[in-house]
Amino acid sequence: MIEQGPIRPPSESKSLLLRLTRNCPWNRCLFCPVYKEADFSRRTMGEIKEDIDTIRKVIDHIQSISQELGFGGDVNSTVVSHIYPRGEYAHFHRQVAHWLYFGRGSVFLQDANSLIMKPEALAEILHYLRERIPGVRQLTSYARSRTLARRNLDEMIMLREAGLDRIHIGLESGYDPVLRFMQKGATAAEHIQAGRLVREASISLSEYVMPGLGGKVWWREHALATAEVLNQIDPDFVRLRSLRVPRTAPLYEKIEAGQFELLDDDGVVREIRLFIESLEGISSAVISDHIMNLLEDLSGTLPDDKEKMLAVADRYLALPEAERVIYKVGRWGGAFRGLDDLEDEVVRAKIERLIHQWNIETSGQVDEVIKEMADQYI
Ligand code: SF4
Repeated sequence: MIEQGPIRPPSESKSLLLRLTRNCPWNRCLFCPVYKEADFSRRTMGEIKEDIDTIRKVIDHIQSISQELGFGGDVNSTVVSHIYPRGEYAHFHRQVAHWLYFGRGSVFLQDANSLIMKPEALAEILHYLRERIPGVRQLTSYARSRTLARRNLDEMIMLREAGLDRIHIGLESGYDPVLRFMQKGATAAEHIQAGRLVREASISLSEYVMPGLGGKVWWREHALATAEVLNQIDPDFVRLRSLRVPRTAPLYEKIEAGQFELLDDDGVVREIRLFIESLEGISSAVISDHIMNLLEDLSGTLPDDKEKMLAVADRYLALPEAERVIYKVGRWGGAFRGLDDLEDEVVRAKIERLIHQWNIETSGQVDEVIKEMADQYI
């Protein structure tokens, strides 16, 4: 059975996961609960290649099931339905069947910073993966800006030629005091250097930004400086992932100790508005696909959709308080994705009943409820 890590970006939900290193080599970001109890370690070349061989064997087996069912090796919905409910096939068989049927041939390299591997070793793995599994069409990975800032263009081009298609960077903020306070282990200058290097190597770049990370004190500077850093990078994607702080994140204690004050949801929308307004001269796609983002419809491609995105923020901020309460309960309950959903009379009636039962009157009370729910989502 192959070894897999705990997370992948939301946009990689259909990707097959291949673990190259375990956990996070930095592991100090205050807002991040993910690997806090786990030490970083490197997997050996042998272990990783063995996992790739296992994937190959599972694919061969699934294709042989397809042959037996008379589909000539094609993995269609009947083959997937044959594998899914059967206890005799392990979870990984189901994952691979799902990947072959629904996926677009994308493989996500885990865990938090695969680019920490020596570029030559990483390239060897990517070549091996593509050679053993010809159906792989896209290879993507998380990377830290500080690690990338130590790479040179030749190394990055070598990785692109070996098949690395996209890098996801947790930029979070472009404001140095926020980066320092949060112990991100990267400066705005390193973010710019890393992002530009990835772009120069013609590798697709996805930068994660964390609205709310400046809290009440730095929200304005955080929005402006983050936009400025991205204006200098012009990544392919800017992905929003709003700050939520579960009890397991070290930031939780700072909040309890009064050393950091969270912005409320409406404040985060104001911050995002300022951030979007300050993105200039770039052609990135802005994506709000994380479950903890209030406004999933605040997405678009710059520069054409800038006004449309600002209008989404303005529309939310102009809602009467009672409507914002309905929207937030609907959103955090998983019933709403965007503001148009407020017009769904049936769902709305259910939410209104719930609000009445919970005795919620203000938008701030919803924020309290969602704080409690953060542990379940993250
Ligand atoms: S670098 Fe990423 S995975 Fe590591 S602690 Fe920071 S946010 Fe978490």
